[in-house]
Amino acid sequence: MKLIFLGPPGAGKGTLASRAVEILKLSLGEEHPHISTGAIFRSAIAAGSPLGLKVKAILDSGKLVDDQTTIDLVRERLAQADARTGYILDGFPRTIPQAEALAGFSPGLTSPVDRVLNFDLSDTAVLERLGGRRVCRTCGHNFHVVFDKPKAEGICDHCGGEVYTRDDDKPEAVQRRLEVYRAQTAPLIDYYRARGILTDVDAGPPVEQVVENFKRALGLRGA
Ligand code: AMP
Repeated sequence: MKLIFLGPPGAGKGTLASRAVEILKLSLGEEHPHISTGAIFRSAIAAGSPLGLKVKAILDSGKLVDDQTTIDLVRERLAQADARTGYILDGFPRTIPQAEALAGFSPGLTSPVDRVLNFDLSDTAVLERLGGRRVCRTCGHNFHVVFDKPKAEGICDHCGGEVYTRDDDKPEAVQRRLEVYRAQTAPLIDYYRARGILTDVDAGPPVEQVVENFKRALGLRGA
């Protein structure tokens, strides 16, 4: 299945995508790579590669990387063998030109998108979640200063890595990301709804409930 996870920053798309990979494996017996453009950019920055040097200041500010760079990156990623039968796109497309470019890709010579899950969350909830989000620098696990604290402050429960605040989770950047989302990404909701392939999923409840909502949206059971 070729899926797009759409939704504002902080809707939990990354966490849900990791859970969705397990669920799809159990219910369909198929591997679905979780392709997060944000994670690809962050690892390029950590590696100090030319792409990383180009995008670091953009990510720190909460603005979007230019369409062409992002489209080229995703086209290359979707051409890899593990993406032939299905994938979860998390954080792409984020603009109408990106969605139009994606529609022209033909991974595995089939339609590049089967269904779009729109993880819906209010602005108030976005600000509360991102303001308190902390991330492990080593394994990427997400924590929250109020709802899901690491057992020892600043240390990841899972791998012992350092837990830190992403530069783009700092208050000015969060505000900017939300504005960018409303202006440039939210129009994709109508774009995909008009094509009859969008399903809304309420991302407000605790994650286990959202996982159930996700399974129901795709008609998956028992996983
Ligand atoms: P995320 O981890 O999805 O919140 O993405 C983090 C940052 O990476 C965003 O704030 C953008 O700066 C950049 N980014 C990720 N995906 C895209 C995209 N599809 N188009 C442009 N910029 C992106």
